[in-house]
Amino acid sequence: MSLKPIGILGGTFDPIHNGHLRLAQEALEQCNLAAVRFIPSGTPPHRNTPYTNAQQRLDMVRLALQGNSAFTIDEREVHRNDPCYTVNTLTSLRTELGAQQPLCLLMGGDAFLLLHTWHEWKQLFELAHIVVMQRAGGRPLGNAMNEADTFLRSEYHARLAPAPRVLHESPAGTILVADMPALEISATDIRRRCAEGKSTRYLLPDAVADYIQSHQLYTQHANH
Ligand code: ATP
Repeated sequence: MSLKPIGILGGTFDPIHNGHLRLAQEALEQCNLAAVRFIPSGTPPHRNTPYTNAQQRLDMVRLALQGNSAFTIDEREVHRNDPCYTVNTLTSLRTELGAQQPLCLLMGGDAFLLLHTWHEWKQLFELAHIVVMQRAGGRPLGNAMNEADTFLRSEYHARLAPAPRVLHESPAGTILVADMPALEISATDIRRRCAEGKSTRYLLPDAVADYIQSHQLYTQHANH
């Protein structure tokens, strides 16, 4: 009996928004995943320090996931102050979930094109599949790969999966590219709107917009 893959979506989630949620929902349905675990980062190695603290980012993810039993929150990174590398997070998930459990690391095409800069990135393929959600109307990943890092390109061509069923047939090691509708939403843009006193409604769940408003988050941080 094969196990349904579990999706993993890491991010700063500063704040979480509908782009993240839609990415997870598309992956859940298109890849027939058992669930998606959202893993808010602690001190992210590739990013600047978050604008809100760990508890606030965690609260916002929790509010955003309410009502969707297929989406769960995983706190293994968020309370840590040292850099949390995805390779370590996946290793700990692998230990917990067992060698046979298919794992799918979910990310947007923009994140995938920088994968070769991640700590021990080639090891990621020993631990999980990678599902790249490319946004409609954007440059197709296959084209963008022509100008990508040489090593990343060769992994991409060697590991490209023809269909989502492949994710169910082994615990790790392939790359699946799937499509999603483009939602031109970013945390940066949401923070800017907050700093300018504008509404963020319909860019993220109402409960998260209300939380941002009532805690007066991002009021100082224009243009970041
Ligand atoms: P920031 O604006 O602070 O850089 P962000 O909104 O881009 O933040 P991240 O935490 O960098 O969010 O993103 C986590 C993951 O979500 C990445 O894999 C990224 O590709 C993906 N992602 C972010 N925004 C969208 C979106 N609008 N549609 C689809 N995927 C997205």
